[in-house]
Amino acid sequence: MIRVRFAPSPTGYLHVGGARTALFNWLYARRHGGKFVLRIEDTDEARNTEAARQAILDGLRWLGLDWDEGPEVGGDRGPYFQSQRKDIYDAYLARLEAAGCTYTEENGAVRFKFSRTAITVGDLVCGDVAFAPTEEPDMTIRRPDGSYIFHFVNVVDDAEMGITHVIRGEDHLSNTWKHIDLFNALGLQAPVYAHIPLILNPGGSKMSKRDEGSSIQSYIDAGFLPDAVFNYLCLLGWTPRAEGEKFDRATLVSLFDPADIHSANARFDMQKCTWFNAQYLRELEPAALLAAARPFLAGAGLEVTDEIMAAAAVASVREKVSRLAELPEWVHYFFGEDFAIEDEALAKLRAKPENPALLTAVAGAFRGVSEWTEAGVQAAIETSAAQAGVKPGALMPLLRFALSGQSRGPGVATIAHRVGQASTLRRIERALAEMAA
Ligand code: GLU
Repeated sequence: MIRVRFAPSPTGYLHVGGARTALFNWLYARRHGGKFVLRIEDTDEARNTEAARQAILDGLRWLGLDWDEGPEVGGDRGPYFQSQRKDIYDAYLARLEAAGCTYTEENGAVRFKFSRTAITVGDLVCGDVAFAPTEEPDMTIRRPDGSYIFHFVNVVDDAEMGITHVIRGEDHLSNTWKHIDLFNALGLQAPVYAHIPLILNPGGSKMSKRDEGSSIQSYIDAGFLPDAVFNYLCLLGWTPRAEGEKFDRATLVSLFDPADIHSANARFDMQKCTWFNAQYLRELEPAALLAAARPFLAGAGLEVTDEIMAAAAVASVREKVSRLAELPEWVHYFFGEDFAIEDEALAKLRAKPENPALLTAVAGAFRGVSEWTEAGVQAAIETSAAQAGVKPGALMPLLRFALSGQSRGPGVATIAHRVGQASTLRRIERALAEMAA
C-alpha cells in the first residue's frame, strides 16, 4: 500500500509551496488508494507556534486535502508530532549505535559515520541523481542537549510510519544522500523519492513571505474558491496528460503521475490563478455561490434576510468579480436603501435638465405595474421611453443611479425586480431629491 506524507515545520504559515507539496502527495495517495499522512515536524521549539500549526491544518482543510492519519485524526503510527516521539528516536539511535555507525563527542554530541560511498537517488522527477562519496565531516544527529537534528528524525519517522514515497520540495534533494545513508545504516529500505520543482515569482526570484499569493490564508481572505486554487496549484510544475487546464478533482486524481512533474522550476502567476477563480465562480449554482459569498457579505455588514433575493443579487454580478471579497461593493445596495451615491454619477445626471422629469415619468409607469417581474419592469421602462421620445437605453444610467447609487452593475430590471416595487419607488424619490439638492 502506498503511504505518503506531508511533513511541514510549523514555523510560519501555510506557504503556497507547502500547499502544493501536500497537494501532490494527496493526489498520489488518492490515485492509488493509499494513505496520506500528516506529520508535524515541530522539533525546533523556539520557532514553532501553535498559531502556525493551526494555520497549516486550516489551510489543508480549506483546500480539501484531508489526511488519513495525523493530528486531530489519529492513526496507529502516531504520535504525529515529532516533539512527542523522543522515545522512538532514542530507540533508533540505540540501533545505529549497536550497528557501530555512531560515535559520541566529548561534549556529548552523537555523530553518524557516513558510509562515504557513492549514493544514487533514483528520483521519480529528477531521474537518477548521483552523489560522489562525501568529504563532509560526519553528521551530528543528536546535539549535546539531547535533541535530535532534522535529517535523523525525518528518516526515522519515514521509516516508522511506513512511508513508501517521499514527495517533497527540490530544496531537499541535495541532502537526500544523507537520508539514504541513514536508511542503509539502519538496514532499512529507503522510500522512493520525488523532488518537485520550486515555485518562483514571475520575475524568477524565490517566493518569500511578503510576496503576493505566498500564504494560503491570503486566498481564503480574498475569496478564492478552494477548487480553483486546487486546480491552479496542480498546474504549478505538473502538466496533466489531457486537453485543457481546467479539471475537477476527480479528473486530477485520475491523471496524476509524478513522472509528468516538470524538473524545471514553476512560475507563480497571480493573474492566472485569479482567472481560474473567475471561471469557477461563474459555474457555481446560485445556492452554492451564496453559501461561498456569505462570509464576505457578513464581513461587509450585509445581512441576508431574503435568501432568494440574496442568491439572485450575488448571481447577477458573478461575471463582474473574480474574487468573492469584491462582491460587497457590487451588491451592497440590494441589502438596504441607505447606500452611498457616487459623486461623479450624480454630477453627470444633474448636468441634464430633462433628467428629473424622465425619472418622474418612469416612476409613474412603475407605479402602474401590476406584476412586478423583470419583464414587467422592462416593459414599463420601454413604455416610458417611447412616451418621452427617447431610447430605453437613455433611461438606464438614470435608473441604475437611482436604484444603486452607482454607474455600473447588473441589469436595471434585475435590480428593480429584486429589490421590489416599493423599494424601487423609494429609491427613485431619494434620487430625485439628491438631484434637486
Ligand atoms: N519539515 C521539512 C520541511 O518543511 C520536511 C521535509 C520533508 O518533506 O522531508 O521542509
